[in-house]
Amino acid sequence: STVAGRTILASTIAKCYNQEIEEKVKEIIQRRENHAAPLLVGFLANDDPAAESYAKWTEKTCKSMGFNYELRRIANKDFLEESIIEANRDDAVDGIMVYFPVFGNAQDQYLQQVVSMEKDVEGLNHVYYQNMYHNIRYLDENKTLKSILPCTPLALVKILEFLKVYNVLLPEGNRLYGKKVAVINRSEIVGRPLAALLANDGATVYSVDIDNIQKFTRGEGLKFSKHQVQDLGDNEPVLLEKVCKDADVIITGVPSPNYKFPTEYIKEGAVVINFSFHKNLNDDVKEKASLYVPSTGKVTICMLLRNMLRLVENREKLKQQ
Ligand code: NAD
Repeated sequence: STVAGRTILASTIAKCYNQEIEEKVKEIIQRRENHAAPLLVGFLANDDPAAESYAKWTEKTCKSMGFNYELRRIANKDFLEESIIEANRDDAVDGIMVYFPVFGNAQDQYLQQVVSMEKDVEGLNHVYYQNMYHNIRYLDENKTLKSILPCTPLALVKILEFLKVYNVLLPEGNRLYGKKVAVINRSEIVGRPLAALLANDGATVYSVDIDNIQKFTRGEGLKFSKHQVQDLGDNEPVLLEKVCKDADVIITGVPSPNYKFPTEYIKEGAVVINFSFHKNLNDDVKEKASLYVPSTGKVTICMLLRNMLRLVENREKLKQQ
């Protein structure tokens, strides 16, 4: 049989943003009195090899695009908070990110909020989350300062735009109208914000976690500007198969090397994207999917750098006011 599907690599999608980012970095450097490149500081306080390689890779990408990058290793986790506060106060630092997990519990969520929102390149600050969940795009009433979006969900939106799942013939804010998307992950970092973002753009989203399945929509008519959530039931094979076979797009993010999404649940011609570090799809995915994106990390880092530029621009605008 002929396989009609195509694999699209994250590097191909990331390339679309490189030029825009590099040009903006140059403009910022020119505008600055000291001509300093924007500085991103990464905090590494664990000995996780995945975090180590992510850090190396952030550094490489930063430098290749004209940013400065500094990795600060914190040997004793208990000193991380102080070090973040120091970076918050340091005018030479433009962006801050922390390689999680650090404590691997709720303390990590506390640490996320210690990063000043003016320097939070990952978009994890509560204010940014709340704006996203409420479909608020600006930080100020005059709409001059754009809000930041969490970088992994944002990367998935940009990937869906690249794959033309977003229909540009429809008005902005409704470009996923009529599309059904299944998201296999409902973490606070990726899955839940992603479901909300896609629902805010008009999609029907089946949000699947280990326990149950929920449906996110924007609600009927113009009354609702933000997403609505409905419980559909437990995550049982019959329900999972039903919602997935109904989906035009399937996005997987299960953090387990053993998990494989059943190929027979994929609708013929669906778009399939995996953002998990692990390969969640079987090799025969291409016999069903029209477009398959096996990993997304390279697009995420582009969004992180784009967020950083936006933060620098927001700070410039605030200084002028
Ligand atoms: P997490 O552990 O916080 O959340 C995992 C989610 O998957 C939970 O909602 C859980 O209920 C769900 N889940 C687990 N097993 C399931 C199953 N069998 N069926 C349905 N749902 C199931 O993890 P996370 O922070 O969301 O990260 C998930 C993965 O994504 C990791 O592999 C991580 O490395 C990767 N990740 C990638 C990027 C990127 O840019 N590509 C960014 C962040 C995280």
